[in-house]
Amino acid sequence: GMAERRTTRLAPSPTGALHLGNARTFLINWAIARQRGWRVVLRIEDLDGPRVKTAADEQAIDVLQWLGLDWDEGPVWQRQEVDVYGAAMESLNDKGLLYPCQCTRREIEQAQSAPHADDHELRYPGTCRTSGSSESGVSSFEFGDAAQTTAWRLRVPDEEVAFVDQVHGEWRVNVQQQVGDFVVASKQGLPAYQLAVVVDDARQGVTDVVRGDDLLDATARQILLWRMLELGPPPCWWHVPLVIGEDGRRLAKRHGDTRVATYRELGVSADRVVGLIAKWSGVGEGEYEPMSARTFAERFKMERLPREAV
Ligand code: GLU
Repeated sequence: GMAERRTTRLAPSPTGALHLGNARTFLINWAIARQRGWRVVLRIEDLDGPRVKTAADEQAIDVLQWLGLDWDEGPVWQRQEVDVYGAAMESLNDKGLLYPCQCTRREIEQAQSAPHADDHELRYPGTCRTSGSSESGVSSFEFGDAAQTTAWRLRVPDEEVAFVDQVHGEWRVNVQQQVGDFVVASKQGLPAYQLAVVVDDARQGVTDVVRGDDLLDATARQILLWRMLELGPPPCWWHVPLVIGEDGRRLAKRHGDTRVATYRELGVSADRVVGLIAKWSGVGEGEYEPMSARTFAERFKMERLPREAV
């Protein structure tokens, strides 16, 4: 029946236009799903407060369709049902796993024991952990309520979380050592990505998460939340190596305009864009050949996907 059908999701963030790197991850996700008969949910991750750009959601949907992708459910916008994240917050709070935090980024930076690299996440040293806050009397979390002005952090155990990634193999992260007690609700009164993604993957029946391997480390945080929220077994994880620029950094604006919409405006066909992505994904003999998304899905082989960033 429906409940047993394996399910994945395409989860664009409408914080900017889809570029070739995003498109490649979505195409691979979709190809794996269609090869195996999984259900595909399109979920728009529009909780990223100030970074969300007007109409970027519609543009992402449009670009995915133009590339030839489809889905069985959605689009679903996270903002449509913020109550579900509030319920998850209450459940965590009931277990004494949350505390409020007013620290600024500057204060957290100053409390670092080691200098941090730019791309590296700051470790929260637990400054507000013992401020007796579980007894703060909060019994309901209403997201979108302008009155909320404090961030909420999760009490993270000091232990390794181990999981097997379908691409990278066994992976271990001590979340407490890496990022510390991380934020699950922001000062802006919105659920943080880590919380929202877990709540959504659970309620949408997601069994397989396919996404860029920049999120490999965040997976351990999400597994902790799956456990703490008692949501059952977490999904299988497939972390796809990213497309990087010539400078070795992940593809972004600094590498020029690689937005899919730009190619389209210039009159480049979807088959040519997919053909380029195919060349980067181990499809065919390495030479460039335009093809439809459907053909890509027929020819794509997980074992031929480059294990290094492209
Ligand atoms: N919305 C995220 C992104 O576009 C993906 C999150 C996820 O797949 O868990 O990077």
